[in-house]
Amino acid sequence: MECIFCQIVAGKVPSEILYQDEEVIAFPDINPEAPVHLIIIPKRHIPSLAHLSEWELPIIGHMVDIANQLAKRKGVSESGYRLVISCGKEGGQLVPHLHMHLLGGRKLSDTLG
Ligand code: 5GP
Ligand code: ZN
Repeated sequence: MECIFCQIVAGKVPSEILYQDEEVIAFPDINPEAPVHLIIIPKRHIPSLAHLSEWELPIIGHMVDIANQLAKRKGVSESGYRLVISCGKEGGQLVPHLHMHLLGGRKLSDTLG
């Protein structure tokens, strides 16, 4: 198993687990781009958005729900935050395990890349 996020799920790569249930876990990004920068992932290895089956779509709603709760916990719910899911090479996805970024705690760029 070489996927870095699967290794975090398995506890083989240490990370501060901020939330977990049967389907999803969340942890801080190792290289934060904002004062709050968390990663929310499905525990199941889904390579990217482009690999999501129709029956798997509810996981995205669940990830958004957890992100909203974590935004409250981290104190950025009122000030604002951004959820980002990059997909594929030109989408800027580096880790090939579906993940959502939660960014907040500073004024983010007005452009989307
Ligand atoms: P991507 O560019 O694929 O959307 O984002 C991958 C993110 O995962 C990057 O922001 C990177 O800093 C983060 N990351 C990569 N490896 C690790 C790791 O081992 N632990 C944690 N916590 N984050 C990681
Ligand atoms: Zn994986």
